[in-house]
Amino acid sequence: MSTATMKAWVVDTPGPIDSGPLRAVERPVPDPGPGQVRIHVRVCGVCRTDLHLAEGDLTPHHPQVVPGHEVVGVVDRAGPGCTRFRPGDRVGVPWLAHTCGICRYCRAQRENLCLSPTFTGWDVDGGYAEYAVVDERYGYPLPDAFADEEAAPLLCAGIIGYRALRRSGLPPGGRLGIYGFGGSGHITAQIALAEGAVVHVMTRAPEARALALSLGAASAGDADDAPPEPLDAAILFAPVGTLVPPALAALDRGGTLAVAGIHLSDIPVLNYQRHLFEERSLCSVTANTRRDGAEFLRAAARVPVRVSTVPYPMDHADRALADLAHDRVDGAAVLVNPERS
Ligand SMILES: [Zn+2]
Ligand SMILES: [Zn+2]
Repeated sequence: MSTATMKAWVVDTPGPIDSGPLRAVERPVPDPGPGQVRIHVRVCGVCRTDLHLAEGDLTPHHPQVVPGHEVVGVVDRAGPGCTRFRPGDRVGVPWLAHTCGICRYCRAQRENLCLSPTFTGWDVDGGYAEYAVVDERYGYPLPDAFADEEAAPLLCAGIIGYRALRRSGLPPGGRLGIYGFGGSGHITAQIALAEGAVVHVMTRAPEARALALSLGAASAGDADDAPPEPLDAAILFAPVGTLVPPALAALDRGGTLAVAGIHLSDIPVLNYQRHLFEERSLCSVTANTRRDGAEFLRAAARVPVRVSTVPYPMDHADRALADLAHDRVDGAAVLVNPERS
């Protein structure tokens, strides 16, 4: 057993971010169990789900959990039986930490719907720390094209956005609406553009609209503006239920709106004729399969996706989350650990 300790952040008392729900603690450095590797965390991305956990929008699964599920680091110790990663390998640790492998969804290659999954930074400790352990079957080797800071947001913002894009059923060369343009939106837009889509972005922050246009979006309007043409598909990244009706109304016949978030504020009453008839669909996105993750990382390296990051020292995780809550982050916030001496 290791007796060393590390710095980590934990969700102490979930509540409004300005009430300080995170606390900095000293924890024992975790030891990797069978099939697990321990990584020295270099960078951990800040995802809106971390904010939902800190603020109590999501029920805590584990008291004093270390948040963070976009973890990039280097293996420093492999537990018994590991064959996939070795000390020195760079590994990405994502949201999906474990699935049962035997339920009807796992057996049908739909492990994102597993009946007893565990998630990094919710059920098991995540990457707002100096070290983290991961079941090596759920970690990802990361394309060399991406520096640590760029790779981190790919691990949730990127993967979930990719699954949302597939769920939206966007046809080749189709017209895609993206509602909310933060970490996930700006990565997903680049994948869609590389596949030949016409992309319209609807988002609140003027800086995000400028970023959208610079990446090649055909238009960028305010959050509930109507796009300049009907959409074949749309993705809602903003956790704002009041955007569901305008996004559905913007769809062409047969179009689909995919809601990407794990949490959404209430959806107002829908009007059948305006929002759903003519075979418009509304669907959610729940986690992802490991296959989604591998497919997305290959696609991201091929494009290659440019990831716009805003680095914060790991010591300032609380400030990074507050900035995300108040729309002060332009791109994807990432927490950076100091270089080990
Ligand atoms: Zn399962
Ligand atoms: Zn996430």
